Formats: sequence, structure tokens, C-alpha cells
Amino acid sequence: MRLDKFLAEVGLGSRKEVKQLIKRGQITVNQQLEKSDKRQIEPAKDLVMFQDERLHYQEFYYYLLHKPAGVVSATEDKRDRTVIDLFDEKDFRSDLFPVGRLDKDTEGLLLITNDGKLAHELLSPKKHIEKEYYAEIDGVMTKEDQRRFIEGIVLDGTLTLPATLLIDETSEKTSKVRIILHEGKFHQVKRMVKACGKEVTYLKRIRMGELTLPNALTKGTYRPLSAAEVDQLK
Ligand code: URA
Repeated sequence: MRLDKFLAEVGLGSRKEVKQLIKRGQITVNQQLEKSDKRQIEPAKDLVMFQDERLHYQEFYYYLLHKPAGVVSATEDKRDRTVIDLFDEKDFRSDLFPVGRLDKDTEGLLLITNDGKLAHELLSPKKHIEKEYYAEIDGVMTKEDQRRFIEGIVLDGTLTLPATLLIDETSEKTSKVRIILHEGKFHQVKRMVKACGKEVTYLKRIRMGELTLPNALTKGTYRPLSAAEVDQLK
């Protein structure tokens, strides 16, 4: 990797700014002053320093975001704020993107990364990663609905994979439920509930695989995943 690219990637400044730092003799590579921005380096091997501090290169970034309602699961949008707009300037990178989608009005756990390979694997239907949702329903969910969720419901001409419907609370006209899916069809929770003759009035994703939405993570905020959490996803 070129030295100027490396310096920009680790967040030292724009490509133009880091070229200036190099020109001014502020960068050393393996303890030697380096004045060429074209110098090729190996990020994991070479010791690159600025003001006596080693610069560490990280290729992939992984964040757990608590998506609020009203923002869209996209990287750019003409009308709406996107989940990427929620990132602070210091963490923002133009290659970050959400892993899959939550509807604009859905809240909860969304992974944000620049690791295309991992995202692809997580979204692969073969992986069947569990996604758990908390939903509030207009209507009373029943044992019969639980049976339909397990047996599958036809959406877009195919039967959904066995899903779990846990009924946590019911009143005369409403229910609070948890729904566990192993796939991610468009509007899947809302459409499965609709197929049972009821309507989702509030939806939040609370878990993906082993990753649970932390209570302390307020809406619109995010935190990096630990290395152990990233490994669990693989
Ligand atoms: N199912 C839905 O209907 N909407 C979502 O955002 C996620 C799952």
C-alpha cells in the first residue's frame, strides 16, 4: 500500500493533508525519515510513526448500531437521513454500509461494517442466522398463529422457514410478542403477522445470532464490536 493511502486510512488527514506531512518530514518508516508519498509499505509489518507514535492500520470496522425509527438502512438517500449519517466524524468512513435492512419505521440492532465478505455471509440464506424481533400487535396473537409461524406462511410464492412466535403479553385487543426468524424476506415480520389477520404497530430487532442489543445503547448511537463478537459472527 502507498504511504499516503495508509496515512489517510488511519485517519491522519485527507490524501492532500498527509502528503504535506510527508513532505515536511514528519513521517518515519522503520525509524527512517520518509519523504516520498509513493513509498510502498506493508501495513501489518512496517513501523510507521508520526510524532513518535506508531500508526496502526485497521482494514475492517464493525459496529453495532441502535437504529431509531425515521432513518433509512442505506448509505445515501436524497430525502431521508441514513444510518451512516448517524456516525460521528471521527468514525465515519465512506465505505461503511449496513448489513441488511430494517424498515424506516423499525428500530433496533443493525450491524454496520466495511467488510463485504462477512456481510455477504451473514445475509446468505444458507447461514440461517437467527434474528429476534420484539413486536407490538394490533390484534390478539393466538396458538393457531404460533402453529402457522412454525409451519410456514406463503410469501412471494414460497413458504417461509419455520419461525418462532412467543406471546409475552396479551390484552383484549393487542399482543406483545417476540418473533424469531432464520431468513430476511422483505417486510417479513409485518407480512407474516398480516397473514394472520393482524397488524404490527411497533417493531424492534433485539438480537442477531449471539449479538443482543445492549440496554445501555441508546437510540441513534453505536459501539464497535469486540474482536470476540466479530469472531462469533463468522
Ligand atoms: N420484518 C419487517 O417487517 N420489517 C423489518 O424491518 C424487519 C423485519
